[in-house]
Amino acid sequence: MPIFVYVSPTGEKVGLIEYYCAEKEAKQVKLIYIQFKDERNFPSYLAPASLNTFLDNNSMQQLFLDLNVDSVHFKSKKLKLTDVNTLTNEQILDSLNLEKFGRKQPLGFSSVFDYFYITNLQKYDAQANTYLGGFHWVGDQGGVQVKYQVSSLGESAEEQTTHEFGHWIGFPHTWKKNGFINVVIEPNQAGTKDNFMDYNIKRKKFLKIQLLHYRR
Ligand SMILES: [Zn+2]
Repeated sequence: MPIFVYVSPTGEKVGLIEYYCAEKEAKQVKLIYIQFKDERNFPSYLAPASLNTFLDNNSMQQLFLDLNVDSVHFKSKKLKLTDVNTLTNEQILDSLNLEKFGRKQPLGFSSVFDYFYITNLQKYDAQANTYLGGFHWVGDQGGVQVKYQVSSLGESAEEQTTHEFGHWIGFPHTWKKNGFINVVIEPNQAGTKDNFMDYNIKRKKFLKIQLLHYRR
């Protein structure tokens, strides 16, 4: 919706403010913290309240204004942290779904609530020469696995979680075309400096093109 700006004494048109918003959908998200059989540490500091505070303070509440986060503590009885590093991401999530819900397929998007898995995995991806922050089906049904640890690049757990939330609702990385966002925002990785969907930067915001093309 365009809003024209005028100088009041003369009526001269001096600018245009473009007001925009994405379609609003209230959603309850269940964070499922996965504690593996042989794991001692647990992401207590990434509680729903701290994630909400981070989103309120650092992402200007974009997309997440009404995010109603609930948390579930899930101890994996079978999977060992030391073993899952040999599995593919898909196999890990399949196993967690099987153990938690008795089914392999992720529960997917619901009109009421979605599930979002958090683990402390830090898997090295030799092909991409990066540490995986998580995995996700871009623009596909829900279910995300993410490491909660502060990354080797100094990004906070909350920043990484926001990045993975972005993938979850269909956002590609800023240097890639994908799905609903069929443009490259910035051709180089770490080129934007400030976008949640970039790497190695302070991920503080999403852009209009992203907000207008999220998957729902
Ligand atoms: Zn990513």
